[in-house]
Amino acid sequence: MTKYACMSCGVQYKASNTPPSHCIICQYDDKYSAPETGQAWVKLAQHRNKYNVTWQELEDGLSKISMDTDMGIGQHAHFLQTTNGNYLWDAIPLINDQLIEDINAKGGLKAIAISHPDFYSNIADWATEFNVPVYIHHNDREWFQDDDDNILFWHGDTLRLEDDLTLINCGGHFKGSSVMHWQQGAQGKGSVLAGDTIAPNSNKTAIFRHSYTRDIMLKPDQVKHIGKLMEHYKFDKLYGAFKFNILSNAHNIVQQSVKQDLESR
Ligand SMILES: [Zn+2]
Repeated sequence: MTKYACMSCGVQYKASNTPPSHCIICQYDDKYSAPETGQAWVKLAQHRNKYNVTWQELEDGLSKISMDTDMGIGQHAHFLQTTNGNYLWDAIPLINDQLIEDINAKGGLKAIAISHPDFYSNIADWATEFNVPVYIHHNDREWFQDDDDNILFWHGDTLRLEDDLTLINCGGHFKGSSVMHWQQGAQGKGSVLAGDTIAPNSNKTAIFRHSYTRDIMLKPDQVKHIGKLMEHYKFDKLYGAFKFNILSNAHNIVQQSVKQDLESR
């Protein structure tokens, strides 16, 4: 029995004798374009130490982790150091020995939290390696296909992980799509790790999409819901899942972007 991962999205499935028939995440609702070369599967264990990992400090206590792999959709992870312990937000498609060493040198992990299924990666293996829980919103439970002994499927609009750290289920991109609000971020002005629940389009605007690659907009009520939930939180910076971040005035920019989205209909 082997664990196979989808080459296109980097998400790993439970151990099986043969690769799964298809990737349910890649084939969800025409969200993604099918790979031209067809569905391919990879055994992540065989690639464990093949790629280099880089760390980039974004602000005090927050770094972005990248890996130079062609697996997946270019996912990044974020490493957050709070006064009560370290958190991993989202994941790159592989864990390797260098990364484990780097994380342990920074004091290890207290928990992992994932924004949505595109970042499930081989998170079950990370959880086993660090012996920590992984927080995933219950609304996305159906998408999680790997071993789930360490996965905590949380319910409701919010989950407070620490006094200054809260998960918020905004929905939209996926029903369980969540962001993480870090009150002490941005030197006390607040930071949000947004996955692509809220996607910075540049330093001045954000967009909200069912599918980003196919530019499929959310329903107006879904966008309104994101705006309403995020209105209650103070934050100056918002970090997206990929290239762009909003590095000041992010709370107002998100509210303004909600307004612009609704007015564009
Ligand atoms: Zn896939």
